[in-house]
Amino acid sequence: MAGRSDLTEYGYRKARARFLAASDVCHLCGHPAADTVDHITPVARGGAPDDPANWAPAHGVNRCPTCGRNCNGEKGDRPHTSVLTTSRDWYVKP
Ligand SMILES: [Zn+2]
Ligand SMILES: [Zn+2]
Repeated sequence: MAGRSDLTEYGYRKARARFLAASDVCHLCGHPAADTVDHITPVARGGAPDDPANWAPAHGVNRCPTCGRNCNGEKGDRPHTSVLTTSRDWYVKP
């Protein structure tokens, strides 16, 4: 039985395909038809590259057919939380 760390590139691709077959709703824009697997905690920041618990569907270079975004590409290296830190808006009064 293959352990997590000796997942081959082929096995990794198969696992990702299975993951996207189970759920292809992009975690960044919320639309279906995601074709890449994004890492919730980026690998560069210590996230597990081959742990499905750290995976989320996202649109890649083929772009979202609904909103046209390259979600995974747009995100770049920014941490996900930076998108959500808009608490200032609550205090802005017209
Ligand atoms: Zn998307
Ligand atoms: Zn979209």
